[in-house]
Amino acid sequence: MAFDIEMIKEVYAQTPVRIAAARKVVGKPLTLTEKILYAHLSEGAASQAFKRGTSYVDFQPDRVAMQDATAQMALLQFMQAGRSQVAVPSTVHCDHLIQAEIGADKDLSKAKDKNKEVYDFLASVSNKYGIGFWKPGAGIIHQVVLENYAFPGGMMIGTDSHTPNAGGLGMIAIGVGGADACDVMAGLPWELKFPKLIGVKLTGKLSGWTAAKDVILKVAGILTVKGGTGAIVEYFGEGARSLSATGKGTICNMGAEIGATTSIFGYDEKSAAYLSGTGRSDIAELANGIAEHLTGDPEVYAQPELYFDQVIEINLSELEPHVNGPFTPDLAWPISKFAAAVRENGWPAKLDVGLIGSCTNSSYEDISRAASLAQQAVDKKLVAKSEYTITPGSEQVRFTVARDGFLDTFDKMGGVVLANACGPCIGQWARHGAEKQERNSIITSFNRNFAKRADGNPNTHSFVASPEIVTALAIAGDLTFNPLTDTLTNSEGNQVRLEEPRGLELPTKGFAVEDAGYQAPAADGSAVQVLVAPTSDRLQLLDSFAAWEGVDLKGLKLLIKAKGKCTTDHISMAGPWLKYRGHLDNISNNMLIGAVNAYNDATNSVKNQLTGAYGEVPATQRAYKAAGIGSIVVGDENYGEGSSREHAAMEPRFLGVRAILVKSFARIHETNLKKQGMLALTFANPADYDLIQENDVIDIVGLTSFAPGKPLEVVFHHADGTHDKIAANHTYNQGQIEWFKAGSALNLIEVKA
Ligand code: SF4
Repeated sequence: MAFDIEMIKEVYAQTPVRIAAARKVVGKPLTLTEKILYAHLSEGAASQAFKRGTSYVDFQPDRVAMQDATAQMALLQFMQAGRSQVAVPSTVHCDHLIQAEIGADKDLSKAKDKNKEVYDFLASVSNKYGIGFWKPGAGIIHQVVLENYAFPGGMMIGTDSHTPNAGGLGMIAIGVGGADACDVMAGLPWELKFPKLIGVKLTGKLSGWTAAKDVILKVAGILTVKGGTGAIVEYFGEGARSLSATGKGTICNMGAEIGATTSIFGYDEKSAAYLSGTGRSDIAELANGIAEHLTGDPEVYAQPELYFDQVIEINLSELEPHVNGPFTPDLAWPISKFAAAVRENGWPAKLDVGLIGSCTNSSYEDISRAASLAQQAVDKKLVAKSEYTITPGSEQVRFTVARDGFLDTFDKMGGVVLANACGPCIGQWARHGAEKQERNSIITSFNRNFAKRADGNPNTHSFVASPEIVTALAIAGDLTFNPLTDTLTNSEGNQVRLEEPRGLELPTKGFAVEDAGYQAPAADGSAVQVLVAPTSDRLQLLDSFAAWEGVDLKGLKLLIKAKGKCTTDHISMAGPWLKYRGHLDNISNNMLIGAVNAYNDATNSVKNQLTGAYGEVPATQRAYKAAGIGSIVVGDENYGEGSSREHAAMEPRFLGVRAILVKSFARIHETNLKKQGMLALTFANPADYDLIQENDVIDIVGLTSFAPGKPLEVVFHHADGTHDKIAANHTYNQGQIEWFKAGSALNLIEVKA
């Protein structure tokens, strides 16, 4: 049903040919990462030896996956591309909007009611454009992708930061913003800075209490939350081959916590077993046919330091279970040192809640191993001291573990099964009493544990560990309990010990599911109506942005001269605004409200040059728009850093800002601005930033001969009658200049389509 064997055959036919071409230009043995990247160069990208960390390269991904929160704007934009179908296989997954409160059934039905208009829109737009739709309750995007779509040697982009989960099955899978997803669905190439490569050599074999999760908890401790930035992490060695495919998925998933572009494992017997176990033995057979291309060259793994920018070695036989946190996933504690750390730091030792599951850790193996501990608790008359929740990653996993009795076992231990959705992992947790903001501790098998993420309480000390350790500590109700060495007192007053967890990588009776929650799109969607109520405050169909008027831009007002850091979060804040991410007009009311005005050091307070009064940034810009006057935004260094958020580029465009002029851009945001038809300019002389005055009227000159490499001229007319004329650089290539002229990249596709 859900995978596209013909597409995979085509990829596998191309892979050896493209790798052979890459060998010629690179001239040395190749890592797995390089093989897959070179096999996915877009048609226009020349096969050359790209410079790691600096070359920007166009790729052609095989798939797109979107979660419900980010899919909204991606698909609203895609609708403007004028295509009848998506250009590559794509799916939407309804997982982020379900709030955990009581338990799976009640929470799911409440979410369906509350988010009906969003689900109806996503279902109808998917149906129309050939996109697979996974309904609320079907599961979490990354688990569903691993079970149905990930394939060795493939390349996927996804509108979620934990998209790299699919690296567990040998896929280069990268989290992106909605604008990138829109482009790829519209048939455009996708640009990525050619990554640096970190090699992680795994030796030995896991045993006892240690799980795959502990590998990434250890790696996070070594590399920290920034150590993987701009890099792909490639795992190899006998230890890597000993891990289950889902265990590998866990490791790749949480690679996002070290800032890695993605992480990957090579194809091996475990991958083949998982593919077969999930009904895809035909893909395993195809992969076996090109197996040598689905792993790094032997020379690379024999002398990794010659081929990777950094190499780390971990012996799985010696690896201890870890607990990471609180408040950051890179504060790594081996379990033998954790109790002392809890005491020394004065963290609340009493454990209030243990939460297992999520996209990171909800495989059959994870659940079965955790259930083996729950069963021991029941058998040994231990009463779990903490609350305990289980979030299955997919309906297929939930159904199967229910069939095999594990959910009953958790129930006997007092566990509560939550909906197959993100829930507490993304703060969708109506945790009772969280508003009191009491100091407390929780432990999860999720991936992120930043302050407030799970329950909004800044005093919740959140720790991350494997499902096995979470379960053991939840039984003990005490963070200082070490299940490897300590005993617990049972209800009869006896000292008992928890034995090592046991589980199965794959169900012996196979996976089963009654209704996986998948809706296939219509074969011909031309008659399908996309459902958006005109009165909705959460969704709004987009209108195309106007084309450039063909003349220089004169008489622009200065909206804001932003000082210091101005990230995408300052430009388009998250939090409560996320509700409006499918409604451009409403979400534009957060435009630049976090930016600091250089003239008064205040946020969200700028001078309205029409009235002389100070007002909020969005309201001021709306006043200019109503008066038919354009404006510019001036910024400092690295403007637009942070997560790729298309709203940060769309909002100024929508409200009538014509240019962003800064000392320097974060590259992704600069590209996003270009795609929306904005002028993204940099000061040729950064000191010119100081020339701009609060009451300036501004002209941008030279647009009629706008050309690659040729600076534009910007004139600041000051209130005292003087003016300054400066040069503004840009990085537009000819294609991007056409985007500007057409009004946006999408307008151009629409013209061509
Ligand atoms: S379970 Fe958590 S990490 Fe996974 S997709 Fe959902 S919010 Fe993201």
